[in-house]
Amino acid sequence: MYGREPRLFRAPGRVNLIGDHTDYNEGFVLPMALDRETVVAGAARADFTVRVHSLDLNVAAEFDLKEPGEKRRGSWLDYVEGIARVLQERGASVRGADLMLHSDVPIGAGLSSSAALEISVGLALLSLSGQSFERTALALAAQRTEHEYVGINSGIMDQLISALGRRGHALLIDCRSLETKQIPLETQDVAIVICDTRVKHELASSAYNTRRAECERAVELLRAYVPGLRSLRDLTAIDFFRYERFLPDVIQRRCRHVVTENGRTLTAAAALEDGNFDLMGRAMYFSHESLRDDYEVSCPELDLLVEIAASVPGTLGARMTGGGFGGCTVNLVRRASLAEFQTIIPRKFSAAFSYEPALYPAEPGDGAEEI
Ligand code: ADP
Ligand code: MG
Repeated sequence: MYGREPRLFRAPGRVNLIGDHTDYNEGFVLPMALDRETVVAGAARADFTVRVHSLDLNVAAEFDLKEPGEKRRGSWLDYVEGIARVLQERGASVRGADLMLHSDVPIGAGLSSSAALEISVGLALLSLSGQSFERTALALAAQRTEHEYVGINSGIMDQLISALGRRGHALLIDCRSLETKQIPLETQDVAIVICDTRVKHELASSAYNTRRAECERAVELLRAYVPGLRSLRDLTAIDFFRYERFLPDVIQRRCRHVVTENGRTLTAAAALEDGNFDLMGRAMYFSHESLRDDYEVSCPELDLLVEIAASVPGTLGARMTGGGFGGCTVNLVRRASLAEFQTIIPRKFSAAFSYEPALYPAEPGDGAEEI
């Protein structure tokens, strides 16, 4: 298409193993990078034009970095133009480039094809312009892209794991300090399987905003008892049990989810480090119950997937992952039971919902890099 010899860059999608709705409460999350990625082929240009072609959408577009930028068109180009301009705003001298991209991260399934796109394009543009940029700074630029250019108020998890993932590891992220820790995830005996409900219920975005507001309200109310409380991240389990009776029922349950989910995420990270997959799995089951009953962000499709998964003897843990109201579950399954798992899930699910979920066995892969 461009008649040029490209360099190749890649950035992965991700799945969050545990720690949902904790990020905006400045708590902990434990994602892993997938062995699914967006690959960008790119060649530098002498001017400031960026030409880009997505093989997945079969569309091409271009913009000039010397001209004023466009925001929130509501299309995929927002991600590409956004990351280019945010990097520029943050001091990188980004030059023009010819880019072509292809992804095997399912788009819009909750496996973060958007972060894979931002980070792979960001890394390509920086490298082709001869610029180096710290990985966390690249992730923050990509998050800013979603806020400013796409108009989605996302957390930092997706971008950080796509930039920092490591093969054979999950990444424990402290969403307040952005400190990260690589956690070994040995997949010789167990498999991670993602099941996609392929639904996204209408409620998702309005409920997300409501939950955020409920958490803010909880902090306000609790400040009367815990002076200086900044976010639910700071609420200890002991303080929660001491003061929960002063909270309205709904707020109380939202708090209980956040407090216990942070605890489970730290427990899960420690369990993985010990190779204790039974404990990891139990933390996942409890996480699902908490998201379903206390945080109320699950849906019948997700609940059924978890229920079916739990009925397979080799399943150690299963939970919804991501924002909820559709999207995916993540499952920890003994390798020996993987085939059985992959047979039973579609069969029992389709008996109830008349269609089959998509199944993606996944290995913890590397973060963004030049190929
Ligand atoms: P998710 O990140 O869960 O896949 P999002 O809605 O956050 O879902 O991001 C999906 C959007 O990202 C797509 O609608 C599209 O605009 C953009 N996108 C992701 N991957 C690609 C790609 N390979 N080519 C073009 N656009 C892409
Ligand atoms: Mg996304």
